[in-house]
Amino acid sequence: MIDRIASVPDMASRSKGLSQNGKSIGFVPTMGALHEGHLSLVRRSVSENDVTVVSIFINPTQFAPSEDLDKYPRDIDGDLEKLDSVGSVIAFIPSIDEIYPEGYRTYVNVEGITEVMCGEFRPGHFKGVTTVVAKLFNIVRPDRAYFGQKDFQQAVVIRKMAADLDTGIDIVLCPTVREEDGLAMSSRNQYLSSEERKAASVIYRSMFETSEMLRSGSLMAGDARGYLVKKLRANKMVGEVQYASIYDPVTFEEIRGEGAEEMLIAVALYIGGTRLIDNMLLKLG
Ligand code: AMP
Repeated sequence: MIDRIASVPDMASRSKGLSQNGKSIGFVPTMGALHEGHLSLVRRSVSENDVTVVSIFINPTQFAPSEDLDKYPRDIDGDLEKLDSVGSVIAFIPSIDEIYPEGYRTYVNVEGITEVMCGEFRPGHFKGVTTVVAKLFNIVRPDRAYFGQKDFQQAVVIRKMAADLDTGIDIVLCPTVREEDGLAMSSRNQYLSSEERKAASVIYRSMFETSEMLRSGSLMAGDARGYLVKKLRANKMVGEVQYASIYDPVTFEEIRGEGAEEMLIAVALYIGGTRLIDNMLLKLG
């Protein structure tokens, strides 16, 4: 059964009541157009908490004016049906005015790890993400919040914010759910034509081959970037490659020389007009 809440005070008082009754609250923030990736987070939360809250909010402050805010997929009825098939959850679906009323002025920013990778190409993006997630955390007051590895940098930034602001919320990182050909599920995959969709599998394939070569020692860390970029560009449908390399998964500094025990292979590129990101964690030793 889905319980739908639209107002901030209603959501806040529901959460307060649940906590007072000793119920643990799991929280899954989303922008809707739900797919199996989102639902895997919801299932995990349902299994680990007394009550699960799923928010659906397309957050305008994390989109630059040139980005896809207006055409971002919206399907609230479909989303509610999918949530209903998972179990009993509270769907928090506020309006933009509810979250950012007239005169709104406060922003939350994590420094240092938000200016690189996605942050370099989407200035202000993470500030929008941390601002809305901080607000949602204050409204929902969860014990645990669930994020996907698909957006690894986002999850690390949020974990840092949650710790730095002493929220006491446990940030749970969940594995990336993929299509059969390896493409990470994403609401934005809907933008792809069938030809583009086929081409998009090059991302996972290239990351996987790079990780296998690094693991076997037949590729040196210092050569990984060149190898990965060449693999990606070999597909004629691939447009701008914003970044494709190996990174330190804590600092997000690019690893250029010696390999490390833990490395993040991460990619952001365009296929047609669609920006796709993906990543893979590689543990050696
Ligand atoms: P979004 O609606 O794109 O903002 O995503 C909401 C949450 O779902 C974020 O924590 C994402 O990392 C997570 N998510 C999105 N796609 C996937 C996926 N394919 N596998 C696992 N988690 C995902």
